[in-house]
Amino acid sequence: MGINAEDIDALIISDDPQHPANHICILCANFYTLGWVTGTGGGTSIRHEDKIYIAPSGVQKELMKPTDMFIMDFHTKEYIRRPQVHKPSACTPLFLAAFHRGAGCCIHTHSQWAVLVTLLVERDFGKDACFEIEEIEQIKGIPKGRGKQGNLGYFERLRIPIIENTAHEEDLTSSLEEAMEKYPDTYAVLVRRHGIYVWGDNVHKAKTQCESIDYILQLAVEMKKLGLPWTK
Ligand SMILES: [Zn+2]
Repeated sequence: MGINAEDIDALIISDDPQHPANHICILCANFYTLGWVTGTGGGTSIRHEDKIYIAPSGVQKELMKPTDMFIMDFHTKEYIRRPQVHKPSACTPLFLAAFHRGAGCCIHTHSQWAVLVTLLVERDFGKDACFEIEEIEQIKGIPKGRGKQGNLGYFERLRIPIIENTAHEEDLTSSLEEAMEKYPDTYAVLVRRHGIYVWGDNVHKAKTQCESIDYILQLAVEMKKLGLPWTK
């Protein structure tokens, strides 16, 4: 049985700023100021119960409205709401990969620090290496791993896998899933010359982790410039 138009509108219209349709707009406007989603790149998706809210493709991320949101049924993968004026996000299958691992929110940025770190790792450690860093206070903002209690400690090592970029965003899906399998504790995957995907159990955690990782990636680039090693 389908949902009627009024019920569909009720899924995106709310006074609550924490409502996913509003929250995605607020987050993307803030991420725009950080340079994470400029030029319509990047995106954010929130899973709310059995519905997935997704920002559309190719829109100015700082100007989005709740009515721009796509909504997908998590179980059937069918669109419940599909604005005709927009294209669905090419990131959708990648967001779904994170939701299948229990994520409540996934953030994709084109952060320049993420791009630079993927190039530095390739140059200094090779194409198969992941990004590794330790003894940086902000590492404490990242969880130990799925099903594990608490966050990484100051003396523990943060590892983030890197996958190669593809011509089309959706073609990253299988390598993203492979990286998730190979690094079961990771909450982020870097994409060479492209950016990063970060997810968390809920919006708050995904945002905290994305900010902490971006801080660490910027620091890592600056450390390289100064000739300082990332690990002991
Ligand atoms: Zn992208």
